Amino acid sequence: MTRKLYYEDAYLKEAKAKVLEVKEDALLLDQTIFYPTGGGQPHDRGTINGVEVLDVYKDDEGNVWHVVAEPEKFKPGDEVELKLDWDYRYKLMRIHSAMHLLEHVLNVVLPEKWEPYGSGMSAEKGRLDIVYPENVNKWKQEIIETFNRLVDEGGEMRIWWEGDTRYTQIRDFEVIPCGGTHVRDIKEIGHLKKFKRSSLGKGKQRLEIWLED
Ligand SMILES: [Zn+2]
Repeated sequence: MTRKLYYEDAYLKEAKAKVLEVKEDALLLDQTIFYPTGGGQPHDRGTINGVEVLDVYKDDEGNVWHVVAEPEKFKPGDEVELKLDWDYRYKLMRIHSAMHLLEHVLNVVLPEKWEPYGSGMSAEKGRLDIVYPENVNKWKQEIIETFNRLVDEGGEMRIWWEGDTRYTQIRDFEVIPCGGTHVRDIKEIGHLKKFKRSSLGKGKQRLEIWLED
């Protein structure tokens, strides 16, 4: 199984690896810093020996495959240099941690229990779809203020494994199972730049967040 360096240190921007297999346009490496699409988090971007990485995915055995622009440049046994598009990945780390913090903030601010309905993220914004009986805009200001206050206070994002399941926890808040990459301290998330609520009908609401740079 591919050694997943992004789990050992989410802040690794470069690494060396060895090509184990080339299958059509995809490379299997002995280890990688490239996060594969999964858990709502998009795959990383970057280069392998200067060749652009177009897609990263995990197969059923837990191996990570890297689809590259010029696969003919690689063969098994090659020693290669991996380089992440760090600006892009760091934005994803911040937005992913922000989504976990938002869940906590909703638990604190909303008087009744909300139900998750779906979620997604890009480097630009995070999206959380929820079911809630009242228009969440009623608490918009409180949500923004609570979020920003917690960011200012800071707090460690702890990550640990129990068997095959990976757990995350901001401070002593809710424990959330998650396979994604996160910031070390929620201070790094930064303040909310924008919070938008829209209706999906029948009590379903879409919450979208944008972070300050
Ligand atoms: Zn997560």
